Amino acid sequence: MKRIGVLAVQGAFIEHCHRLKDMGFDAVELRNHTDAAQDLDGLVLPGGESTVQSKLLNELGMFDPLRAKITDGTPVLGTCAGLILLAHKVENGNGSGLERATTTSRVPITSFASLPVTVVRNAYGRQLGSFHATGVLHSSGSSGSSEEVSIPMTFIRAPHISDIGDGVDTIASLADGTPVAVQYKNQIGITFHPELDDDQQLYSLFASML
Ligand code: GLN
Repeated sequence: MKRIGVLAVQGAFIEHCHRLKDMGFDAVELRNHTDAAQDLDGLVLPGGESTVQSKLLNELGMFDPLRAKITDGTPVLGTCAGLILLAHKVENGNGSGLERATTTSRVPITSFASLPVTVVRNAYGRQLGSFHATGVLHSSGSSGSSEEVSIPMTFIRAPHISDIGDGVDTIASLADGTPVAVQYKNQIGITFHPELDDDQQLYSLFASML
């Protein structure tokens, strides 16, 4: 049975564990250095508060063993705060909407910096912080052709992907084309919460990488 580690220091980790168990995986909660250093077939970084998670990863001695797994090619699924922890560059939103999303204030986050994207935290503003949408998943069909299928998306104080680096594929977008899920080698980063909707598509993509 494949063993998937779910970062469990803060945030929405229980829902991911349930989904992974339903899929037949051994989902183990990672809470300390020993947990993080064990052999894992995959890794899930849940949503929550990235500043708190980043601080705890460092304080609990989990940052280095997890970073080593990610850079060694262990498949990783990062959702919302989890995407922020993977991003090369993190900017702070000012809570007033996408068009004025960045400030120069210092961001107290040490990310793994393994996924070549820039993300803006809390980019959708206070009023629009949480919303539900139906977006588009770009997947390749059996003949290798590109297919678009709809996918439900729940956003909670979500980050915005403002820059996408070389080699990073956009795998899901909002209807207006805004990228909301990306893949780079062994890493999937999602700005919304797939664990909260009754849709398996992104979990199936992750499972296919294990
Ligand atoms: N706003 C949170 C952060 O900056 C992310 C929210 C979430 O994970 N749902 O870390």
